[in-house]
Amino acid sequence: MKQGDFKIAVFAGDGIGPEIMKEALKILKIISDKKNIDLQLTEGLVGGCAYDHFKVPLPDSSMELALQSDAVLLGAVGGPRWESLDYKVRPERALLGLRSALGIFANLRPVVAFDELLEASPLKKNIVQRIDIMIVRELTGDVYFGKPRGIKKGKDGKRRGVNTMAYSEDEIRRIAVRAFEIARTRKKNLLSVDKANVLETSELWRDVVTEVGHNYPKITLKHMYVDNCAMQLIRNPAQFDVIVTSNLFGDILSDEAAMLTGSIGMLPSASLGEKTALYEPIHGSAPDIAGKNIANPLATILSVALMLRYSFSMPLEAGLIEKAVAETLKEGFRTQDIHQQNKKLVGTGEMGDNVARNLCKLLN
Ligand code: NAD
Repeated sequence: MKQGDFKIAVFAGDGIGPEIMKEALKILKIISDKKNIDLQLTEGLVGGCAYDHFKVPLPDSSMELALQSDAVLLGAVGGPRWESLDYKVRPERALLGLRSALGIFANLRPVVAFDELLEASPLKKNIVQRIDIMIVRELTGDVYFGKPRGIKKGKDGKRRGVNTMAYSEDEIRRIAVRAFEIARTRKKNLLSVDKANVLETSELWRDVVTEVGHNYPKITLKHMYVDNCAMQLIRNPAQFDVIVTSNLFGDILSDEAAMLTGSIGMLPSASLGEKTALYEPIHGSAPDIAGKNIANPLATILSVALMLRYSFSMPLEAGLIEKAVAETLKEGFRTQDIHQQNKKLVGTGEMGDNVARNLCKLLN
């Protein structure tokens, strides 16, 4: 009997998108075959490739497919070919359209140090060793969406720019619940980051997160000011487990944290909504290396692991994919972006094949 029946919308996108997606699908196929799970994969067009066919980056058929799926797996969109298009039909607009249609409100970015790649970090090895952080960033509120906003000319003829930092307690509660649930599956430590010493929005954030924490007595909740957190991420990143924070602070902290572990080709992400979720590598379509079989597929493969963990409640299989990636790195296989002396330089397809081989071994 089949264990599950999951619908996945697959949008490979542009540039290196199709190459890295091919490797991620190899991994999904192995999970589906070996674990006897019915994964229904349907491919669609999003981004520049969709514009070429339909003159819009997010056609109704792709939107419909995403809405009817349990999860969306995306490669990357965009490229110089579409840069001169009107802003409204640029490939990147498809991402905004998808996120908003899927009601996505939480962005998850895991930051994990693979032992074999510690040398790739700009920080010292002893500082990045044992990093395993999950950053949970709120995506729908804060200063990016608050009103009033704009630039106006005053009576003195000088311009003044205004943005409004705002959060409702429901928005804070929704993301806090997600973060506590994630902390429950990890080391049970949640850090909420704010600036409650000077901002009322943060004062409310801290109050609501603390209230939600009463329902999770087994999770240790701490609070930290964002300036201190930015410093601690460099000084002692291994102290963190799950970090939850608002849109603006999360934007900055997640990019800072992403750099701790080195290459952009290694970093996956998950964006969760109420009913569905979107999984994608954090990098773009890398037009400079597209079609050359040199792109690193590991961020997309690791995004598949996140999908199994957060959309399909398959933490065991997710962990095995991550282990297969670690094993492959341990065997010395490297794509160009993470290549070091005395390691085996491989292309996109070969890297995917090696992860697939290790995954099969772990599943047997
Ligand atoms: P990028 O992330 O595509 O590339 C930055 C650098 O990292 C390039 O040198 C590239 O070769 C390298 N790189 C990226 N992914 C890699 C991988 N998997 N393996 C090896 N090297 C990799 O960012 P960019 O050059 O600023 O943007 C290129 C296009 O991608 C633009 O059109 C941009 O709008 C788009 N973009 C899309 C997304 C998305 O789809 N989510 C995100 C960011 C940028």
